[in-house]
Amino acid sequence: MLDEKLLSINQVTLMEQWSLRQAIESLGRSGLGAISVWRDKMREIGAAEAARLIDGHGLAVSGLCFAGLITSPDHAEAAKAMDEVRRAIDEAAEIKALCLVFVAGGVDPREKDIKAARARALDRLAELVPHARGANVRLAIEPLHPMICATRSVVSTMALANDWCDALGADDVVGIAVDTYAVWWDPQLEAEIARAGKRICAFHISDWLVDTQDVRLDRGMMGDGVIDIPAIRRMVEAAGYRGHREVEIFSARNWWKRDPDEVIRVIRERYQSAV
Ligand code: ZN
Repeated sequence: MLDEKLLSINQVTLMEQWSLRQAIESLGRSGLGAISVWRDKMREIGAAEAARLIDGHGLAVSGLCFAGLITSPDHAEAAKAMDEVRRAIDEAAEIKALCLVFVAGGVDPREKDIKAARARALDRLAELVPHARGANVRLAIEPLHPMICATRSVVSTMALANDWCDALGADDVVGIAVDTYAVWWDPQLEAEIARAGKRICAFHISDWLVDTQDVRLDRGMMGDGVIDIPAIRRMVEAAGYRGHREVEIFSARNWWKRDPDEVIRVIRERYQSAV
């Protein structure tokens, strides 16, 4: 049996059903150990009130999602994006999030230069390190699936996330989020997870549906798709990861339409049978 205290529910999994207040209260009552908070939803009540509620319900915060999108070639846009990341770092500190999920940003169609976008994002991430360190917040670089490279993340592989960590030399404050949905296809996955070792500071789980209708919004429940999630869990644990297993399911056509108690019931079952 896997420990339910290490089962975290990313708020996006019940994005349509619950406000942040409802999510905290419901998960607190359910006896699960942790929540991952979505910044857009936290605006409903603010970080201070969120922190108070989370504390009151005894939940850990496995992550705050998300901040980043710092690839812009435009200086004013970039400065604005950097300020937004700094705000997110402060919010993560306030709710005692174990990490702030960092999503690099995509490729600007005005420029069409992925190499330049990557270089800028890495430079800017380096600039953010002192602020994160000062706030005692760990930034978790999350490689995302290459199908959303243009819009979301020029970091598509664990190898590149590891290369960036090597370049930054700031393992105390910059780590990596391993999301099964984003990296399962990668032939180098096992080797790069081993290379990441203690850098792994978040483990996100969901499944890839064979007949997926939308690469962002049609994630599957663990066990419903083609990812060998237990195998990837064993890889991150072999690398030294002992943290939460965070369920992160964007599902516009299925799980967002279901009764939230049913969603939690299915997650608990699948956590034991398919994670
Ligand atoms: Zn994720």
